[in-house]
Amino acid sequence: MYDNPHWQLARTPPEGWPTDGDFRYEIEAAPDPGPNQALTRTLYLSLDPYQWGRRRGGIEVPGEVCHGRTVSQVTASRSTVYREGDYIFNTNGWQTYGLVGEGVSHFNYMHPRQLDATLAPISTALGVLGMLGLTAYAGLVAQCKPQAGETVVVSAASGGVGQVVGQIASLLGCRVVGIAGAQHKCNFVRTELGFDSCVSHRAPNLRAALTAACPDGVDIYFENVGGAVFEAVLPYFNHGARISLCGMISQYGNTDGKDAGEVWQAMGAATFARQQMNVHRLFVGNYVDSHQAEFLERMGAWVGAGRIRYREDLSSGLEQAPAAFAAMLEGRNFGKTLVGVGDDPSLDSATTLRRQSGNTLGG
Ligand code: NDP
Repeated sequence: MYDNPHWQLARTPPEGWPTDGDFRYEIEAAPDPGPNQALTRTLYLSLDPYQWGRRRGGIEVPGEVCHGRTVSQVTASRSTVYREGDYIFNTNGWQTYGLVGEGVSHFNYMHPRQLDATLAPISTALGVLGMLGLTAYAGLVAQCKPQAGETVVVSAASGGVGQVVGQIASLLGCRVVGIAGAQHKCNFVRTELGFDSCVSHRAPNLRAALTAACPDGVDIYFENVGGAVFEAVLPYFNHGARISLCGMISQYGNTDGKDAGEVWQAMGAATFARQQMNVHRLFVGNYVDSHQAEFLERMGAWVGAGRIRYREDLSSGLEQAPAAFAAMLEGRNFGKTLVGVGDDPSLDSATTLRRQSGNTLGG
């Protein structure tokens, strides 16, 4: 019998960004696995903007364990599929232990799967080789169909999705321009990830910076933030430009009652029509059956060959989850936001030390 520390949603959150009062830390006994089930210990918890939408929108109810994707290790098993010691992707949520196997519900399209720690660090199943990577791949490759020589602009460029979008676009021969907040994020995107340019949305004159960075206009825009950043990009769209509307994180704390998607659409409508643009709304769940296998094969090869790099923003200890979650929503993360819940036995001691010293750049 193990103790199972976890975070519950304390209330349906009010306006704005997360605060301490939204979450409650509890310790209960971990469940015993039933027939054809296994008990897993969470190693990494993924913190993602969509979780805030679920909580604010009442999909997650007070008293429930907060939802989240995880990488876990099987600690006890009554299953022939999940054996003790196996590493798996699953959705334990913000808790230390969870079940997987027969009769255990998982979050709609996020099917549990086995991970091979010899192919890539297992944490990548929550980032570059997981739903975030697939989001980037689906929006850029499947929806926008980039051609070599085109200019691709991506917002939240240093984040989990944005860093992958830009690097894939570079590999496909595009000119890539990132938009990020802090200057150190812009520097990272240019020097470590190899984007052609990166402009700060905090710069006093974002328009002038975009004019310099996009001398041939914009052919593809990968939208992660909306709001003022989208408004700044609008004048640069070329005829026939494409947009993948992936997310609008600048709107997730807004409470003016307006539908963020409708506001965004209205802002761009005249430009979309004039430039005969294609605007694709993205929901990654729609691309799991059709594109996940192709994505894992191509991205696995790119990551394995060091052609795609990734940065993780790793906090240590489940207690840190609410603070790390708020930091991510407010732009204080730097890379894919993860919480290390338990020690990762798949890492060698050198990598563990490197990570403890704050270096979470991989690939
Ligand atoms: P990130 O790691 O990119 O973290 C969020 C980043 O957003 C922050 O680091 C910050 O970067 C930026 N940001 C926050 N507030 C603002 C603001 N007001 N204006 C401009 N930038 C802001 O998160 P993810 O990679 O996890 O997610 C990126 C987007 O992808 C989100 O919108 C998310 O909802 C969406 N998404 C959509 C999916 C789909 O199926 N459509 C699936 C998965 C994710 P900076 O400091 O550089 O400004």
